Amino acid sequence: DLAAPATRSPALETLHRVFGYDSFRGDQEEIVEHVVAGGDALVLMPTGGGKSLCYQIPALVRPGTGVVVSPLIALMQDQVDALRNVGVRAGFLNSTQDFAQRQEVEAAFVAGELDLLYLAPERLSVEATVRLLDRGKIALFAIDEAHCVSQWGHDFRPDYLMLSSLHERWPEVPRIALTATATEATRREISTRLGLDQARHFVASFDRPNIQYRIVPKNSPQKQLLDLLRTEHPGDAGIVYCLSRASVEKTADFLVQDGIPALPYHAGLDKATRAANQSRFLREDGLVVVATIAFGMGIDKPDVRFVAHLDLPKSVEGYYQETGRAGRDGQPSTAWLAYGLQDVVQQRKMIDSSEGDEAHRRQLARHLNAMLALCETVTCRRQQVLAYFGQSAQPCGNCDTCQTPPESWDGTVAAQKLLSTVVRLRNERRQKFGAGQIIDILLGKTTPKVTQFRHDELTVFGVGTELREPEWRAVVRQLLAGNLLAVEGDYGSLVLTEGSTAVLNGSQQVMLRREPERTARAPRTSRR
Ligand code: ADP
Ligand code: ZN
Repeated sequence: DLAAPATRSPALETLHRVFGYDSFRGDQEEIVEHVVAGGDALVLMPTGGGKSLCYQIPALVRPGTGVVVSPLIALMQDQVDALRNVGVRAGFLNSTQDFAQRQEVEAAFVAGELDLLYLAPERLSVEATVRLLDRGKIALFAIDEAHCVSQWGHDFRPDYLMLSSLHERWPEVPRIALTATATEATRREISTRLGLDQARHFVASFDRPNIQYRIVPKNSPQKQLLDLLRTEHPGDAGIVYCLSRASVEKTADFLVQDGIPALPYHAGLDKATRAANQSRFLREDGLVVVATIAFGMGIDKPDVRFVAHLDLPKSVEGYYQETGRAGRDGQPSTAWLAYGLQDVVQQRKMIDSSEGDEAHRRQLARHLNAMLALCETVTCRRQQVLAYFGQSAQPCGNCDTCQTPPESWDGTVAAQKLLSTVVRLRNERRQKFGAGQIIDILLGKTTPKVTQFRHDELTVFGVGTELREPEWRAVVRQLLAGNLLAVEGDYGSLVLTEGSTAVLNGSQQVMLRREPERTARAPRTSRR
């Protein structure tokens, strides 16, 4: 064809011919050319950014097989099917296969008949796999979900530590590590642990401008959710995340009763049901999946219009990854989270009772604290999320705090009243009490439990009538979020922290966020 430009690169040619796309996106072209030329790369790109092509195209252009290490075993079959559909010779090796199936894939690899081979990470700790790889020709190693190598990250997989040996065994094979989740610290850790010191770093912008971030006070979460779906997302596809299997089931039932087509998804359902619900969600229009975070890894549905969280995510990384499943098509989408006092109490308790050593618990607490800071911020949510990933931005004008800036107020006196009540209870009785009892005392309520413990005789009884109950709950929540108060034991008893002292003796001022009357508003941009 004389009209074809003479300089069309093999990479671009492959993009057109195999995948049918017109052009590369963002950094894709530079990454692909770099790896095709044999360079190592560390790629940070948000979910939906197009990481797969970054290793698939070099695997096709370079001689040999691209070996892809991925922890997402459940998705390998789908990935391989999708590639075969466009004529790519792909296979996978993982624990779901029987001996014959594995042998077939191994034979194809050795015969040089595979363009891409997907491997579960634990395969590489098996010596037989290493010997197998020695018998074929390797075009590159792609390490997907590379943040799994980070021991202090939120998704550590011990098998990933083995991957440092790839380079020792095959020093001439280029490696490309990819992740959607990496702060500066995680990026450094990936680089060190995988021995990627020669790698070029490609860091894409993490901004998802079409996603509107909203975090609202949790009152009656299911009704709030229903309201959101009816007023802003009728007929839209979306994902609702809950912490427990039980609340997944309850919420899905609740939505179905109210005429919303909702499907549950959690690890307690049998495999067939899970697969059926997932494939219906992908194929049909306007379905809502109610799920634990087990759902979504690798889900590629472009028109997810909202992601709603009914419980607090454990980290900003998790929040960003889950909300990132909305709006892959670039259309306006909503990331909505309902958050309340009980979330803080529950998550702090979970950290206290979690397995692992003290350093691990401190790490979990750091993750949670960053998430809480995002919930309690009075500035732009997007700015705060991006700052967490080390990227600076202007206030977005689209998130809830930009649209309805929350007032802050001087809560020092309120905090002192609350903390002194905690002190009184600690001094006068050996027993400890939760937020409910403390707020009842401050409000001067003579409940049976108040009279039983003679809390109506305390000097602090009734000193807090200037605030209403939900406002006191917001004070408790924010003091917990700021580590000026802590929870202890199975009943969520409130106890002082080191930080409480400075508040009590007046040397620290406490600025609190006043919840706007209405925090929810439809996206600024007009929709479809
Ligand atoms: P990630 O792994 O970063 O989450 P994927 O590799 O799954 O993202 O890509 C997300 C979607 O974008 C896929 O549907 C993919 O086919 C599409 N995509 C990626 N690159 C391009 C491109 N250059 N042109 C058109 N579509 C693309
Ligand atoms: Zn904003």
